[in-house]
Amino acid sequence: MSRAGTVKEITSTANPTIKAARALQARKARNESGLFLAEGQKLIEDALSVGWWPQMVFALQAAGSEGHQAQLAAKVRAAGSDVIFTNATVMEKLSRRDNPQTMIGVFDQRFTALNAMTGGTLVALEAPRDPGNVGTIIRTIDAVGASGLILVGPAADPFGVETVRATMGSIFHVPLARADSAQFGAFVARWQGQIIGTHLAASKDIRAIAPQEPQLLVMGTEQAGLTDELAQKCTTLTKIPMVGAADSLNLAVATALALYELRRPFL
Ligand code: SAM
Repeated sequence: MSRAGTVKEITSTANPTIKAARALQARKARNESGLFLAEGQKLIEDALSVGWWPQMVFALQAAGSEGHQAQLAAKVRAAGSDVIFTNATVMEKLSRRDNPQTMIGVFDQRFTALNAMTGGTLVALEAPRDPGNVGTIIRTIDAVGASGLILVGPAADPFGVETVRATMGSIFHVPLARADSAQFGAFVARWQGQIIGTHLAASKDIRAIAPQEPQLLVMGTEQAGLTDELAQKCTTLTKIPMVGAADSLNLAVATALALYELRRPFL
C-alpha cells in the first residue's frame, strides 16, 4: 500500500525545500534533477487526469482557499505527494510573479523515446529558441489531436516555466521526444509516410497537399528557417501563402496554420 504524503507548513524563503524548488526556474537545476514546476490548480488537475502525480505541491494558505484547493491538496497527499502550505511571499518567489497562482506542483519530467513516436500527425521543430513558441505549439498539437512533438537539436526547454505556462496544461497530454540531427535523420529514414517541410522558398501551397496519416510536419528555426540538411529529408516542401509585406509568419502561428490544414480531414 502506498503511503500518504506528508503535510508541512513552510513560510521562510530560506528553507532548503523552498530553495530547491526555486532553483527549478533555471534549466541547469531542471536538467540535474529531472524535475519541473507547474503552476495553478488547472495544470495540477490536468496532470492528475493522466496519472502524472507531483512529487510535492505548494499551496497558499489563505482565507477562502479551503474548498476546492483543500480537496485537491488532500487528493495529491493521498496519492503520496507531499503538500506544503505556505504564504504569499514564498509563492511569489517560487513563481517570480506578483500575483502568483495558489498552487504550484513539482513534477518529474517525461520524455518519450524517439522510436516510440508514431503517427498520426507528428510535428518536428528544428532548434526552436523561444519558450513561448514551444509552449504554444504543444498546446496546438493537443488541440488538433496530433500525436506528439520532436525537438531536433538544441531547443528551448519544454519543461521551462515559461513554456509550461504557455502550454496551458497540454504539457501533460502531448508526448515529447528529443533528437540530435543524426538521430532525427535515422528516424525519418524509417518513417512510413509523408514528411512535409515548411519553407518560404517552396512553391507548393499547403492547401494543395492531400493530408494522409502518418505524416510528419517539419518546421524550421525562428531565425534562419529550415536548414538545407533538414529540407533535404522532407518528401514535400510547402509554403503558407502570404499576400502582404510580412516576409514570414511567427513559428507558432505557422505551425498552427499548417496543423489545421493537415488535420482538417480528421477534425
Ligand atoms: N527568416 C526565416 C526564413 O527565411 O525561413 C523565417 C523563419 S520563420 C519565423 C520560422 C518557421 O516558420 C520557418 O522556418 C517555417 O518553418 C515556418 N514559416 C513561417 N512562415 C511561413 C510561410 N509563410 N510558409 C511556410 N512556412 C513558414
